[in-house]
Amino acid sequence: VKQFKTVAIVSTGTEILQGMYADTNAQWLAQRLCGLGLRVVAETAAPDDAACVESALRFAARRADLVICSGGLGPTGDDVNCEILSRVFGAKLVYDNHVHDMIVERFSRRGVEVPTGNDKQSYVPEGASVFYNDWGTAPGWFLSPADERGVSGDDVVAAAAIALPGPPKELKPMFDRYVPEILAERLSGDLFVRTHTLHIYGYPESEIGTYVSQMFRARSDVDFTILARPMGIDLRITGHAATVEALDALIDEVERETVSLLPRNAVYGTDNVSLAEVVGDLLKSRGEWVSTAESCTGGLISKFLTDVPGSSSWFECGYVTYANSAKMLMLDVSADTLSTYGAVSEETAREMAASARRLSGTDYALATTGIAGPGGGSDTKPVGLVYIALATSTEVIVKKQVFLFDRELNRVHAALTALNMLRGYMMEHPVHS
Ligand code: ATP
Ligand code: MG
Repeated sequence: VKQFKTVAIVSTGTEILQGMYADTNAQWLAQRLCGLGLRVVAETAAPDDAACVESALRFAARRADLVICSGGLGPTGDDVNCEILSRVFGAKLVYDNHVHDMIVERFSRRGVEVPTGNDKQSYVPEGASVFYNDWGTAPGWFLSPADERGVSGDDVVAAAAIALPGPPKELKPMFDRYVPEILAERLSGDLFVRTHTLHIYGYPESEIGTYVSQMFRARSDVDFTILARPMGIDLRITGHAATVEALDALIDEVERETVSLLPRNAVYGTDNVSLAEVVGDLLKSRGEWVSTAESCTGGLISKFLTDVPGSSSWFECGYVTYANSAKMLMLDVSADTLSTYGAVSEETAREMAASARRLSGTDYALATTGIAGPGGGSDTKPVGLVYIALATSTEVIVKKQVFLFDRELNRVHAALTALNMLRGYMMEHPVHS
């Protein structure tokens, strides 16, 4: 039998094209199909119109070994997919007695006659493997490629087809009960699939792209994506292999190659790890402690750090000093510094970090002072300006950043930048035992 490597999804329903509901079937199907080791090469949505559905199916069939079509199998006049699918994929419709019995039984349980429209749902393409519907009325089915059925014709496409009903409550259980089993003998070799994610913080997406784009193009054995999220950049590596061992080896190799192309220590972690967890792990392994002195972030750095289970073995305390008086009273920031340079200044950030470190007795202290917005900016000190300081045993490093997000994200990025500074410092200064 023909092996399948690629699949195209066709969603049908006029309401999708009107924006009335989101095409969640396509997303769900894509996850399941990728999980089976298939490569999804196209996703299309077509309104309930015979010509539109037909051209969407032909487009999909040109690109993939298998076409999965959802929706349009219902009992009403606008549900035209069964006829179109059978024509495009080269099968005539035949009456299925078992489907008919199930529909009759379903309506009799409700104590009503079978409405006339439902009768057409008892027809399925000749030669199809039928997916009986325990969750609704319309059956789904799998139709093998035309040449395997001895069918040919100028307008018959070569791909195989799967039809599923549109309602997610029917589509999902039907897929899980029937599809993996029916595809099993056609999923060649590379059954194991995994996506490995590398997290990067503090670089523009375009810069990361320039480091890795050549490799991304050169390696056709893995899929790469670069995803810019509000919280940083994710490089996603998806590999396929015949065994778990081969898959691990492939992903390891590609990860090493990717990391070698990026700036040193640009990748802070992989898969589900957070920046704060990475910082915590480093502190813990070094037996070191951190404290914070926060103005514009209002405790967000402490929040991120204490989100990490076990943070009590490396996080000492956080000073939230919002007003000038609090900066003076709690952190000994000098009145002179505040009046000469202002609360939002390199000098204030420096004093905050140095004092927090001294007063709490920690190895490191992180400090932030800035203008989160939306108001409060000036020409020399615009909204989004933040000074972030790291105090260590030998120095205080201050970083000036201007964020262009909204208040919430400006604060989040000030906090993440602080965490990343500490991470970078520890990576560059390994402890020797
Ligand atoms: P029915 O027998 O209900 O008519 P059908 O197979 O003809 O089933 P559609 O008429 O296309 O399917 O869709 C029925 C309902 O299922 C839609 O109103 C919508 O709520 C849901 N649905 C259909 N397609 C999708 C999709 N792609 N994503 C999410 N929900 C969908
Ligand atoms: Mg319908």
